[in-house]
Amino acid sequence: MKIVAFRQNGQSCAGLVSADLQQVQPFDLPQAQAELGALPLIEMYARGEPLPALQAAVSLSDVQITAPLPRPRRNIFCVGKNYFAHAKEFAGSGFDSSAKSGGDIPADPIIFTKVPESVVGPGAAITMPAARVSSAIDYEAELAVIIGRGGKGIAAADAMAHVWGYTIVNDITARDWQSRHQQWHMGKSFDTFCPMGPWLVSADELDGTKTNVRCYVNGEERQNASTADLIFDIPKLIETLSAGITLYPGDVIATGTPVGVGIGFKPPRYLRAGDVVRVEIDGIGSLENPVR
Ligand code: MG
Repeated sequence: MKIVAFRQNGQSCAGLVSADLQQVQPFDLPQAQAELGALPLIEMYARGEPLPALQAAVSLSDVQITAPLPRPRRNIFCVGKNYFAHAKEFAGSGFDSSAKSGGDIPADPIIFTKVPESVVGPGAAITMPAARVSSAIDYEAELAVIIGRGGKGIAAADAMAHVWGYTIVNDITARDWQSRHQQWHMGKSFDTFCPMGPWLVSADELDGTKTNVRCYVNGEERQNASTADLIFDIPKLIETLSAGITLYPGDVIATGTPVGVGIGFKPPRYLRAGDVVRVEIDGIGSLENPVR
């Protein structure tokens, strides 16, 4: 199934997308829960409860789609340097403070987080900070895993049973902050720096371990890779994260970005106001955001 969050007539809704992607049936949810998008539905799934009743279908073109998890329950977990070719381009860019302590390829997953308030939905603007703050803003197309059943100490062999599904995340980054502060949290967490959507796709509809991720800036292809090429695959990421941190339903893990980010070009090709960034993942759809 595909679960979309949207606003209609001033109300927040979460609903089931039709097979032809033309319509949505809202779930019968109290407004306070509907404002959390798909999160209460994933929590019901994790508790083994049936999903709420569906209401009459409306056309998707008549509603304003928001991020499927407009305010995730906590920080979004993200993975750095998780494709071989991207690890090399980033280490070679001079912006990688982590490269000084070792080689290009990490021996263990590099995990950082983005604050929940950085999330915006499809079509929402990625806001450029003032030039004195940063003018080194970059895109990162990524498959994001949505945890269903939570847990701690999850073995890699059992990990896929904890995946509810997937969505698209664009891990927007202020490269100068990522480098200067030697910690990625701030430069990854600026307001609007986590476009997410257009909806969640359940794991029975999509094998996230073998799908293709692409990114276009103003229609020009910049990234194109398969998630089969991840250095640390989804089971390994879940095993690593859950070893010491209990995972909860609705947790988001952005799995890393492939080669082709702006910093990989010489000179770098940063985002500018007026650009449009589109991320596509086979089996999910596309996430497009203008830069303002
Ligand atoms: Mg990233």
